[in-house]
Amino acid sequence: MKLAQRPRIVKSRLSNDRRLARLLQPVISLVTPVFNEEAAIAIFLEAVTPHLERVGRLPGTEQGYEILFVNDGSRDGTEAAIMAAARGNRNIRLLNLSRNFGKEAALAAGLAHASGRAVVPIDVDMQDPPELLEKMALMWKEGAKIVNAKRVDRSSDSWLKRQTSGWFYRIYNSLAEQPISANVGDFRLLDREVVEVLKGLNEHSRFSKGLFSWVGFTTATVEYERPLRAAGTSKWPYGRLWGLAVDGIVASTTIPLRIATWLGLLLGFLSAVYGLYIVIHTLMVGPDVPGYASLMAVVLFFGSINLIAVGILGEYVGRIAREVRGRPNYIVESKVGFDP
Ligand code: UDP
Ligand code: MG
Repeated sequence: MKLAQRPRIVKSRLSNDRRLARLLQPVISLVTPVFNEEAAIAIFLEAVTPHLERVGRLPGTEQGYEILFVNDGSRDGTEAAIMAAARGNRNIRLLNLSRNFGKEAALAAGLAHASGRAVVPIDVDMQDPPELLEKMALMWKEGAKIVNAKRVDRSSDSWLKRQTSGWFYRIYNSLAEQPISANVGDFRLLDREVVEVLKGLNEHSRFSKGLFSWVGFTTATVEYERPLRAAGTSKWPYGRLWGLAVDGIVASTTIPLRIATWLGLLLGFLSAVYGLYIVIHTLMVGPDVPGYASLMAVVLFFGSINLIAVGILGEYVGRIAREVRGRPNYIVESKVGFDP
């Protein structure tokens, strides 16, 4: 008798706990990766707080919010600045990564630790306007599982950056299985359901934009103009952007491998035709000594095609090696503001 009843009691307590956890869960989590941003923290907090307070008051969303900073191995006073702010604000949480793992890894860490029913990755430098938060939350309430924020005006970026990013989107979308919308950054609202799916994608060369679009789900879009950085400088030099672009393409498609094969076949055909021509020409007119320039040109051209093909292979092989090693994407050194 006793034994038969016990499981029922345990079960109901468990579901109560879960209900309680759901009630205490914040409505919205901001996930903010920071790398050497001591000057931006205070400006950022002051700007986002009123909007978060208002989102907390949307119908059916009374449970508040959290701001989760992911300190991506900053070497300046970023951690101290966040700790100082957290002392007077229970909504602030902090993850300290053990070193600089890059923004993509920091974002993954933030998504894994955020508890909100909606999660919004947002940059600390005020280039992602917090005024959009209410609009995004409303669209989410209306049923969208992902709300993208799309830049309609990129005049705050340099000409070169706009050109290169335009090329990137064009190349990416013509190759990838699942296109991404141009000019949508990591700033977007993700429903808990989407976050849980994203947490299950454990790939190492992460390209968040590609993953966000790959998972699908009902998606809405709000538009905005991208402002200038509030403080500090961009942490994305062109070398790193190139790395991100290659990661994005290689992680989403194997078509470049096929391009190498097709190019090889085409050139093989052309060189066979040319070889035949030389043989016939030599047989009919005799050997032709002054062919040095054309010979050199052909040799150099094929050499470079070979190197490109090997390079493309290398990009994929390198990623396979990284995945096989199975190291984590990031290491959390310490946490502040989380329940034990
Ligand atoms: N960031 C990071 N780790 C890095 C580089 C950048 O966490 O290795 C953060 C940075 O602090 C900022 C966000 O990622 O909050 C966007 O960086 P940034 O503004 O430099 O990029 P941009 O707007 O120039 O593309
Ligand atoms: Mg920025």
